[in-house]
Amino acid sequence: MLEVNQKIDILSLEFHELEEEIARIGEKKFRAKQIFEWLHIKRVTDFDSMSNLSSSLRTKLNEMFCIKSLFVVKNLESNIDNTVKYLYKLPDGNHIETVLMEYNHGNSICVSTQVGCKMGCKFCASTIAGFKRNLEPSEILLQIYESERNSGRKVSSVVLMGIGEPLDNYDNVLKFLNLLSSKEGTNMSLRHVSLSTCGIVPKIYELAKLKLGLTLSISLHASNNLKRSEIMPINNKYDVYELIEASKHYFNETGRRISFEYSLIDGVNDTKEYAKELAQLLKGMPSHINLIPVNQIKESNYKSSKKAAMIFQGYLTELGLNATIRRTLGSDIDAACGQLRREQEKN
Ligand code: SAH
Repeated sequence: MLEVNQKIDILSLEFHELEEEIARIGEKKFRAKQIFEWLHIKRVTDFDSMSNLSSSLRTKLNEMFCIKSLFVVKNLESNIDNTVKYLYKLPDGNHIETVLMEYNHGNSICVSTQVGCKMGCKFCASTIAGFKRNLEPSEILLQIYESERNSGRKVSSVVLMGIGEPLDNYDNVLKFLNLLSSKEGTNMSLRHVSLSTCGIVPKIYELAKLKLGLTLSISLHASNNLKRSEIMPINNKYDVYELIEASKHYFNETGRRISFEYSLIDGVNDTKEYAKELAQLLKGMPSHINLIPVNQIKESNYKSSKKAAMIFQGYLTELGLNATIRRTLGSDIDAACGQLRREQEKN
């Protein structure tokens, strides 16, 4: 029998890949559909629960494959709204965070795509505890399955805005999206998915080609190169003008309006001059700007306020831009990404 870490991670296999694996072990094709349903619809956590399979097939599956799972280390429930923040332990002992949020239109979940992050944004807690590894497709998917199981709530939309840079784990994120939207499984329309990136430009072009229907969120946070490079090192590699070109291209290819994230930082990027520059930058592009008063983290002096956000929003509206202030959810449970994992790593 194979060691656990040599076994195939069955939850990371797309349906057609599972069909191939099942054919390889000499089983009939329809078995793949049954197994996929057990995993992604009924969501059993062991092969022995797959009661419509023969015991010899179950034994074979046990020998070749593993079903990964996440362990809930913490679940913090907000007393203000129904936000729940999960700290999950991965099979190898690393930790990630997931946040379940309630909106009028249903529950939305914010998932992590990497253990840590390499991008080094100055205001972000996810990057401080360092980068460990990419998440497997199964480990991204399981954040949804485990949070649904744990909360008893059904998730209707997904945002890839937790720990990590999704486009820095491109292949696994794509597989995750394929699994999530698989009609044999969870069958979620990718119209209900947003992917947030700090701006890995070549990957934005690759993603545009696929026309997946998801919303692309660009973490812009500054309107010129000098300022953006000061707070986001990725800007030294792909500058803000290249990023805007890529965003326009994404819109032209997919017809999906881009959402720009702009975290306001007191005295850094929140004056009227920056608002004017931002309007100039986004001129002629259908877009939406999401303003977020920066969430203060222990390692930086950056701060902001709802009032500053309202003033900045006023400037943008005057300039004809479409800007809203992100609702703060779970402010009593430190819902800003990366903070729980960091505390855990320090212990
Ligand atoms: N790496 C991706 C997704 C993860 S971060 C990205 O950069 O887009 C999700 C969003 O939260 C990004 O817009 C990020 O810039 C923002 N963010 C991170 N830390 C923040 C903080 N302390 N306050 C406000 N926004 C923050």
